[in-house]
Amino acid sequence: MDTSVTRLRDIFLNEKELPKRALFAVFDRAGIPSDTCWRTLYRMIFDSKINFNPIAEKAVSRQQLVPVMNQALKNIELEDFSEKALLALIKNYNSAFVSVCQSELAEAVNELDSLTSEFRSICHERQDKVETLETDTLQTVRSDSSIEEKIRSIKAKFRATIELFQADVNKLDHISNTDHLTGLYNRRFFDEQIHAQADQAVSEKTWLNLLMIDIDNFKQFNDEYGHLIGDQALKTVAKNINLACSEESERTGIVYYPVRYGGEEFAVIVPAVDITEAEKTGEAIREKINGYTFVIRGKQGSIKHENIKLTVSVGVAGFPHKQGKKDGVEELIKNADKAMFTAKKTGKNRIMTHYR
Ligand code: GH3
Ligand code: MG
Ligand code: MG
Repeated sequence: MDTSVTRLRDIFLNEKELPKRALFAVFDRAGIPSDTCWRTLYRMIFDSKINFNPIAEKAVSRQQLVPVMNQALKNIELEDFSEKALLALIKNYNSAFVSVCQSELAEAVNELDSLTSEFRSICHERQDKVETLETDTLQTVRSDSSIEEKIRSIKAKFRATIELFQADVNKLDHISNTDHLTGLYNRRFFDEQIHAQADQAVSEKTWLNLLMIDIDNFKQFNDEYGHLIGDQALKTVAKNINLACSEESERTGIVYYPVRYGGEEFAVIVPAVDITEAEKTGEAIREKINGYTFVIRGKQGSIKHENIKLTVSVGVAGFPHKQGKKDGVEELIKNADKAMFTAKKTGKNRIMTHYR
């Protein structure tokens, strides 16, 4: 075999890129005339001007060219550059291209198939939706619509299912961070958030404050009205804390995190502002609860007790970023607690600040 042809085969089968220039140099060295029809065909292939197949407008890839090239190399050996040979090449190229497209589609279908079964095994709770997705996908694949239409339809169905799962995740997230009685954030959320806020305060060199809020004489309230009414009262206190936080948020533009810390104790994480701002928020909460009049109604809605007052004691503490050391969070909680107990000791229904 001609060394040029060997080189041609070598270039084509072994080199990563198809070096157009190198190939044409080989043709030149082999003395192949530039108007040879198969050489023109190569040029057309390289310039991606050939688009025998109407379903794909992609540029030809190396993978698709392999069978064509192999055939062409055979033709070189046979020195057959006739029109018949050219037509045979085109036919060969065409079927190679179609089979590449079909194998791409088969691969995509396989992938979707394994995705569907993965979905099914993970999401037992959404079994019905996953099964529908699976049936829909298979039906779409088997339908007569075009490849583009099939892919568009499958994508839309997957997107809709993913949105459903996202809603589940959001719901789960909400449940895991919320206190079921009051609707405020729960202790789990607090433990995570206080550390996240402390890290942020340290990195952004801002303040972080904490309010500890405890209902005054709540044992007595429970003893007098019973636990169920006590629960209602806890909800109302929480609603007032939340409302005060929203109003404060509008005033200051920062996000507050009101938490049910445990029992009849609440906390509010106040990031970013200095301690005097946090004191204002604590005072706003205390005032709102102090100004609220509880009414206890019977089953038919009749008033059983009215003009009932509840008050809270509030402790405030803060740490500036400079003290954002590892035990800073523990100290912050301890100090806010201490301030709250001072408020209790000095008469309740008041706010006290822990100053360093
Ligand atoms: P102080 O002013 O010193 O805080 O007095 P207090 O009575 O509020 O404090 P104490 O710690 O003695 O009692 C807290 C009470 O809160 C006792 C408990 O029954 C009540 N409590 C805690 N969690 C709940 C709850 O989920 N529902 C109801 N109804 N009561 C609760
Ligand atoms: Mg109490
Ligand atoms: Mg308490």
